Amino acid sequence: MDINNKLQTAQETFETWKKVPFPEKQKLLAEMAKILDLEAENFGKIITTEMNKPITQSIAEIHKCALMIRYYAEAENILQPDKVETEFRVSEIQFVPKGVILGIMPWNFPFWQALRFAIPAILAGNTVVLKHASICFGSGNAIEDLFLKAGFPEGVFQNLEIGHAEVKKVLENPIVKGVSLTGSEKAGGEVAAIAGKYIKKSLLELGGSDAFIVLDDADFQKAAESGANSRLANCGQACNAAKRFIIQENIEEEFLPIFINEYQKYVASNPFNKETNLAGMARPDLADDLEKQYEKALKNGAEIILPLKRISENEFIPGLIKVNSGNPILQEELFGPVGMVMIADDDQHAVTLANDITFGLSDSVWTNDKIRQQFFIDNLEAGTISVNKSSSSDPRLPFGGTKSSGYGTELSLVALKEFVNVRTVVGN
Ligand code: NDP
Repeated sequence: MDINNKLQTAQETFETWKKVPFPEKQKLLAEMAKILDLEAENFGKIITTEMNKPITQSIAEIHKCALMIRYYAEAENILQPDKVETEFRVSEIQFVPKGVILGIMPWNFPFWQALRFAIPAILAGNTVVLKHASICFGSGNAIEDLFLKAGFPEGVFQNLEIGHAEVKKVLENPIVKGVSLTGSEKAGGEVAAIAGKYIKKSLLELGGSDAFIVLDDADFQKAAESGANSRLANCGQACNAAKRFIIQENIEEEFLPIFINEYQKYVASNPFNKETNLAGMARPDLADDLEKQYEKALKNGAEIILPLKRISENEFIPGLIKVNSGNPILQEELFGPVGMVMIADDDQHAVTLANDITFGLSDSVWTNDKIRQQFFIDNLEAGTISVNKSSSSDPRLPFGGTKSSGYGTELSLVALKEFVNVRTVVGN
């Protein structure tokens, strides 16, 4: 089917899908969650084949999708009309699905990113077309099949096998009423500009350079394990990975060796081996980019703690560098196995360092002191602040960025209202 036919199908399906009662839609979601759990190994293999994620992490991604879908399958229907007391006989707020929504999704979590966007949009009554990353068309097709297998009508979710150059044409089509993009700032800016030109709603989930702040009263071992995992899971290719480790000056000598010890437990190996905790990056050009960024950091004064070593076209021995404020690398996202360490004099300095970037996605702070916790909660500029845990998205809680990390909310009940029109009905 060509793109126009697919868009036509999505539009026709929307006319009937929007009328399907919310609990009926939820039954299909429950079925979908079951299939994902049952076939997690097979879906996991598609992910690992396409983008190299260690297989246990790919399977975990599938189970996390099932968890998220089950959350929506059991969620309260917050889209029922809200009655408002006025002098009129009828006055209510309705939440009306917009229509066909385009999802532009990346390769780093090929099932999670696509489903995280699509599920609440579809439960709200929209239909979805997906433009997946060019290396993940297999995942996109598997997700389309999954919808059909769970019993969703044809056209509720369709995968478009198109490159990014074809997105403009799709987004310009009057059938498409909104777009959600997860990816780089560059792609996000370009897509939002087209959406803006045609007055269509956009949601952007872009990068981050999240701070992981360790203070002198933290549990060092837990912080070290969690920090290394946050930086190196999925080979460092996560928007909400810990990327800058801001360490209080008086614990540098004690904490760093513990952290380095945990960090060195990640060793690149065959992604299909269930013992593997680190594999190659998704594409060799992304590995090239990471190396250039590493060199740039060093040229601008960064000191090597653990050297980044390329051992194949897309595999590395992870690197760790000490970076001072003012290094231009701090304004970039390091989307791979390189961590940055920064030293803070005190709590205020740690906040200043954490906020001194263009991004604002999800910071993490490690301290057992409630007053210090509150200080960071009040002052960090991020969409999520995690305390004594690393950042990880949770279906029950909203996820989204501030500053150049994007706008709009994914997950939780809030996401159900992202692609609806709010309609007022009032009169006698
Ligand atoms: P991109 O942002 O280029 O790709 C993400 C998605 O956007 C893909 O589907 C891609 O399609 C599409 N896309 C790219 N450019 C455009 C465009 N101009 N118009 C419409 N769609 C577009 O990420 P890359 O794969 O190139 O990775 C580069 C960097 O982006 C990473 O190193 C990382 O910093 C960041 N990134 C952040 C992610 C996150 O989770 N926040 C996820 C992925 C990347 P196609 O594959 O066809 O190019």
